Amino acid sequence: MIDDIVGQIGGERVDTIPLIRGELDPHSYELVKGDDEKFARADLIFYNGLGLEHGLSLRQNLEKNPKAVAVADPILQQRPDLILIVDGQPDPHVWMDIALWMRIVEPITEALIAKDPDHAQGYRERGAAVLKRMQEADEKVFRIMQSLPSDKRYLITSHDAFHYFARHYLAEEGEMDWQQRCRAPEGLAPEAHLSVCDVIAIIDHIEEFHIPVLFPESNVSKDSLRKIVDASRQKGFTIRMSQQILYGDSMGSTGSYLEMICHNAEVIAQELLNE
Ligand SMILES: [Zn+2]
Repeated sequence: MIDDIVGQIGGERVDTIPLIRGELDPHSYELVKGDDEKFARADLIFYNGLGLEHGLSLRQNLEKNPKAVAVADPILQQRPDLILIVDGQPDPHVWMDIALWMRIVEPITEALIAKDPDHAQGYRERGAAVLKRMQEADEKVFRIMQSLPSDKRYLITSHDAFHYFARHYLAEEGEMDWQQRCRAPEGLAPEAHLSVCDVIAIIDHIEEFHIPVLFPESNVSKDSLRKIVDASRQKGFTIRMSQQILYGDSMGSTGSYLEMICHNAEVIAQELLNE
């Protein structure tokens, strides 16, 4: 998602190389052979921050690196009220709310200009165009989700990547209790261990809000969702697993960041309406 935005702002002036490709989990990513060379060759290194990249070897390379720019950390510094805190840690999945992810455009643009000041105008123009496309997509996703009745806008996904999505797109305006609108058996990072208590809590939540469907994510094992389907059967009700997957921490084959978020919105709307 960062690679996509940096590439659009950089235009022809910048060659981007994504470090974490495809369906790899960014939370636990550790450097592999060849990554050191990418770090050495790069003029700038953009990463999410907010504790997303906690694989030890990656974190050490970023923390000590004068070329590294954490694109989402300025949101916490400038607008801490916008960042969710889950179990004492900032929730790093800010890309799930396009309006929030728009805030990374400025730090990226400024970092590129500081490196290549002769071409500042081009970076600013492309940055403004990116913001416009993001704004339009944000409005589209908001319309899609808010077209569903409020009592259907409840989301269960594999891991806790969708809090920002729920707060911005699923909640009623000014809703205090919007946290009820998304749940996941696995925590902020998908390697979390699933306990019997976790399963019971999710099952109770599904029953309380009459939630019909669970959404697997492209790069997380379906095991914990299967446990929930099994546990619901034992309790005498059924919840199905969506055949269409969501993209939480990877863009899969959707092609771009905005297509990824629009894909998620369309799948969620179709599945929640299709009881
Ligand atoms: Zn995640």
